[in-house]
Amino acid sequence: MLTPHFSLDELIVTDTGLDNTPSANEEARLRTLAAFLEKVRVILGNNPITIDSAFRSEAVNAAVGGVPDSAHRLAYAADIVCPGFGTPWEVANALSQAQTEGKLDFDQIIYEQTWTHISRDPQLREQRLTHVPADGSYLDGLVGP
Ligand SMILES: [Zn+2]
Repeated sequence: MLTPHFSLDELIVTDTGLDNTPSANEEARLRTLAAFLEKVRVILGNNPITIDSAFRSEAVNAAVGGVPDSAHRLAYAADIVCPGFGTPWEVANALSQAQTEGKLDFDQIIYEQTWTHISRDPQLREQRLTHVPADGSYLDGLVGP
């Protein structure tokens, strides 16, 4: 376990079958990501969070079509669902609201429709985006279903 509720295995999960072993530096950043996700978990009512994807090695990132500077590649981002709290839309809005209230600093939230992407990249741009699966575009802000 990296923190009480998040293990290294959860943060390097991949269904590509490719090697997704982090370097020592990447593992250190995953430890910080796990600590960040503990804060996210509290905001989501201490409900269990399922990680769809967090860290991606170069090979895994290429296989899933990620951009080379993806926050996943840098061990800053996690794609999460939290059914005990609510839908991905409700999760995205709760995290956005927490930032507004000064309870959480993040770089980016993306409402991805079936999950929520959250990044703790130290740029902390406080961006909110909505992914449109129909054309692969991203809209500014959280745009509801
Ligand atoms: Zn993501």
